[in-house]
Amino acid sequence: MASESGSASRQHADELAASEAKESHPVEPDSNGPAAASSIITPGGTKRPKGKGRSISPDRVKAIQEKRKKAQLVVDDISVSFDGFKAITNLTLILDKGELRCVIGPNGAGKTTMMDVITGKTRPDSGSVFFVDELEDLVGFSEHEIARRGIGRKFQRPTVFPRHSVRENLELALNADKGVWKSLFHRFTAAEREKVDQTLEQIGLSSVHTTLAGSLAHGQKQWLEIGMLLAQDPAVLLVDEPIAGMTHQEVERTAALLSSLAGDHTVVVIEHDMDFVRSIATDTVTVLHEGKVLAEGNMDAVQSDPKVIEVYLGE
Ligand code: ADP
Ligand code: MG
Repeated sequence: MASESGSASRQHADELAASEAKESHPVEPDSNGPAAASSIITPGGTKRPKGKGRSISPDRVKAIQEKRKKAQLVVDDISVSFDGFKAITNLTLILDKGELRCVIGPNGAGKTTMMDVITGKTRPDSGSVFFVDELEDLVGFSEHEIARRGIGRKFQRPTVFPRHSVRENLELALNADKGVWKSLFHRFTAAEREKVDQTLEQIGLSSVHTTLAGSLAHGQKQWLEIGMLLAQDPAVLLVDEPIAGMTHQEVERTAALLSSLAGDHTVVVIEHDMDFVRSIATDTVTVLHEGKVLAEGNMDAVQSDPKVIEVYLGE
């Protein structure tokens, strides 16, 4: 950061430290976390700490892989209750590597709760979450550990650093492991610069890279936050209601961005807006209702499913 913002004031650093303390950002620096963008443990990686998670039965994995060759992340038989109310009941979701999965369903269906379980924010009563090639249950891991293993989450409220430029935000995300002080005075390598440039390009913010994040339009802030997640190279990217509050034009650009990320990443988009889902759903759509999978298939199949029609009309 020194090169771009040598004048970074103590005030800025304090602001950053305060943001760092917030639990809302999934890939915040952590004093004991040796994670770096380059060392995020992707499925099949070898650097993961040993002996932490419960083991997943190899038979279960085999059964899944027989059905789904490209299976990558499995949400397996999850149940969640809040004071006796069942928000999710025996939910299983198998994500293929590189797919763009849309999860839709009426309010209260359990979509956000499912995302909370995957990211370690909510601990389920039962069930597992695992990468098929890791045989280790992610349930019980901290949000930070799960983020380090390659599951990035985009929150509805952007958690960008408003008093730093777009570029600096990406640089901070790239060095999230180093802690704020170190990353502020870090000298960037050519590879890191290239990664930042490439991410700027990807999120369509190259032309505003010197703009303070706090001055960006709503949509641009959302894209920057997606960029900050991308800087961490997540295997799986979870996005909850990405178009809330966006203009029509912003919605279109968001659709294009999310579609472009699939392939290199597995992308899960939770969205209530059917028109938006229709515009991006090239792969499987999962419909949740009352904490269960009501329907799953391609957009056409799901849309013409009488059960789905009934649930959406009954809202
Ligand atoms: P969706 O995102 O599909 O709208 P949620 O996952 O937010 O649904 O919520 C599913 C159900 O669980 C809702 O009935 C909601 O009120 C309930 N719920 C979610 N979080 C909590 C919580 N922390 N405490 C109590 N009930 C909750
Ligand atoms: Mg929700």
